Amino acid sequence: MDTLATPLPAPAETPDPPRAPDTRATPALLYLDAVSVSFDGFRALNSLSLVIEPGEMRAIIGPNGAGKTTMMDVVTGKTKPDTGEIVFSGTHDLTRLDEAAIASLGIGRKFQKPTVFEKVSVEDNLALALAGRRGVIATLLHRASGAERARIDEILEIVKLGERRREAAGALSHGQKQWLEIGMLLAQDPALLLVDEPVAGMTDAETEETADLLRRINADHSVIVVEHDMSFVRALGVKVSVLHEGSVLAEGSIDHVSADPRVIEVYLGR
Ligand code: ADP
Ligand code: MG
Repeated sequence: MDTLATPLPAPAETPDPPRAPDTRATPALLYLDAVSVSFDGFRALNSLSLVIEPGEMRAIIGPNGAGKTTMMDVVTGKTKPDTGEIVFSGTHDLTRLDEAAIASLGIGRKFQKPTVFEKVSVEDNLALALAGRRGVIATLLHRASGAERARIDEILEIVKLGERRREAAGALSHGQKQWLEIGMLLAQDPALLLVDEPVAGMTDAETEETADLLRRINADHSVIVVEHDMSFVRALGVKVSVLHEGSVLAEGSIDHVSADPRVIEVYLGR
């Protein structure tokens, strides 16, 4: 065999790419590079770069106004970045897609305020979320299929609302409404869940439960969670990115970032 003597053809030259492409064997689930957004000249995101791996749960912390919600807005297409790259699963350029297209790729978002249907039962809220566009009346009249009922049972188990399933959502505590809404997001089975300040207004017990809930969800979904509550972030036990003035100031374990003098300065120096 003398095939080795034959020189390999030179790799095809491509014209200079603007940035080094993500060439790893497994592409990042979410890849943000040098993303900037300005509102009336104020830079809410300032060359933000962030990489989330498949299956990862990442916590994002940072002082008010750091750009955390704006980061979620650019990922979900609510706000278009002025510059920078946002790539989902190595192939989808999110800067070119609208909110509906991004949602249908499997990126689900939970806003801070719960938006459950208060007069509808807990399980019917989940049935509505499963049905998606079928419509409210059609869904409530339609008998859930075996597969739909099984999925509703599974979600009720994850969000620990099985015992409240036949009660109106309006009867739930604030924390339980947040869990129901996370359950409604799960009904769409997103690959990536974005959760903004889930434990704001919760009791300590509910906060602890929410950390457990997100860990259960992370068993088969990737998650980005923005939160101020440090004991909650510590309970999650995942990698943390600290945002400050629209870019990442520090990244690592909660112990690592909370020992970083620049992080201490940002949190305590004002
Ligand atoms: P965080 O969620 O970290 O508290 P935000 O992303 O909400 O911060 O906001 C970052 C900065 O951008 C803030 O100064 C905020 O006032 C500003 N901002 C966010 N969205 C808008 C908008 N739609 N129009 C104008 N300013 C905005
Ligand atoms: Mg915010």
